[in-house]
Amino acid sequence: MNIPKSSFPRVVIVGGGFAGVALAKKLSGKEVQVVLLDKNNYHTFQPLLYQVSTGGLEPDSIAYPIRKILQDYPNFFFRMAEIQQVQTSDQKIITNIGSLSYDHLVIAAGSETNFFGNTEIEKNGMAMKSIPQSLNLRSMILENFEQALLTDNLHERDALMNFVIVGGGPTGVELAGALAEIKKGILPKDYPDLDTRRAQINLIQSGDRILKEMSENASKKAEDFLESLGVQIWKNTRVTSYDGKKVTTKTDLEFEAATLVWAAGVKAVSIKGLDAQEILKPGNRLQVNEYNQVQGYENIYAIGDIACMAKEDTPRGHPMMAQPAIQQGRHLGDNLVRLLEGKKMEPFIYKDKGSMATVGRNKAVVDLKNYKFQGVFAWFVWMFVHLFFLIGFRNRMIVFVNWVYNYVRFDREARLIIRPYQRDYSRFKE
Ligand SMILES: Cc1cc2nc3c(=O)[nH]c(=O)nc-3n(C[C@H](O)[C@H](O)[C@H](O)COP(=O)(O)OP(=O)(O)OC[C@H]3O[C@@H](n4cnc5c(N)ncnc54)[C@H](O)[C@@H]3O)c2cc1C
Repeated sequence: MNIPKSSFPRVVIVGGGFAGVALAKKLSGKEVQVVLLDKNNYHTFQPLLYQVSTGGLEPDSIAYPIRKILQDYPNFFFRMAEIQQVQTSDQKIITNIGSLSYDHLVIAAGSETNFFGNTEIEKNGMAMKSIPQSLNLRSMILENFEQALLTDNLHERDALMNFVIVGGGPTGVELAGALAEIKKGILPKDYPDLDTRRAQINLIQSGDRILKEMSENASKKAEDFLESLGVQIWKNTRVTSYDGKKVTTKTDLEFEAATLVWAAGVKAVSIKGLDAQEILKPGNRLQVNEYNQVQGYENIYAIGDIACMAKEDTPRGHPMMAQPAIQQGRHLGDNLVRLLEGKKMEPFIYKDKGSMATVGRNKAVVDLKNYKFQGVFAWFVWMFVHLFFLIGFRNRMIVFVNWVYNYVRFDREARLIIRPYQRDYSRFKE
């Protein structure tokens, strides 16, 4: 990898997501050599991916070059590399661009969509975990409407305008709300020769309420908001298969839909060499102790989505969300500095700052520790928090200006098919 030798210990960080970047920032100016590896050369702000999928934002406003984050830090190196394996016996990692030795290894590779082994849904459904996937979804949504124009068969047309979103967590809820707004405000103007009132947005949840990690009040209010926007919510319904046209469920409910978005779960990215059964927790996460050390290793750490710090109060680890990732990254940075100074590390304590989801224009739900609220004020809080955590002044400005423009004009101008999503539409004619 052509990284110079240094008299300082080498910390290798795998993943430039929320956790990896927070850690890197903490190590800046310290007596360490830091090598950050990521398979992409950019950091992705995943909470706004759904806005890219629905034409509200361009992808470059929610991505940020990792090299730019690190450019002023001394002793920092970035390599665009995909980690393939950890060779713990000789303290090396193997990647697609070569191998590298480490003194301390931090795995912050995040998570990926979990299809729970359902290969048919994986093949025919759409995931929304990365920018390329969001762009695919954006293209496909628009292509479906272009295709719907070409047929006078009502059945075929309805299937092309039918959306099924599986998973009633924040991702599913936010996407459903955004699609409902497009249906109301944009489709009638863009497709005047199509009866877009027939477009359906179905949100399917296996449990008895959406946003189940939030308060009951937030769930109820989010349901009301979505229903007022025309979204159909199907609870206690488990999707079993999707062949690209027909969605089947465990009950006798079926849908014909050109689009199925799978937002029903994530699992940690697999890292070979650290995949012994005893350290893998539910969702493929690596079991770590209160210092984020992977069970059985002193100088290998895991932070963020990939780490499971199972304790009495968090038997399944911390939520797979941005806040635990950022807090663990920062805390591990402080702990590594303590180690270098010959001091003892301190245990990680998660400060739950609450959770929130937006459901569309003027509508959001926010659960803070002592205060839960919904509606317009919640929506402003949601926007402020997301702007605050976006990396880069330019990105914040662009997102802010886009939001103001979209709000005032009831518009989403990034509805562009720049990279068409190839799919076979013949099945809808059958
Ligand atoms: C659609 C969506 C909406 C979300 N909304 C919210 C929200 O509203 N609020 C919230 O708190 N959380 C939200 N989340 C969850 C949040 O984004 C994650 O919890 C957070 O990104 C985890 O941070 P991380 O650093 O652990 O991983 P990530 O941010 O995923 O970063 C992992 C990094 O590792 C890199 N990587 C992966 N595998 C490899 C490899 N083999 N080699 C090299 N590099 C690799 C990736 O490219 C990536 O840059 C959302 C997630 C999604 C997908």
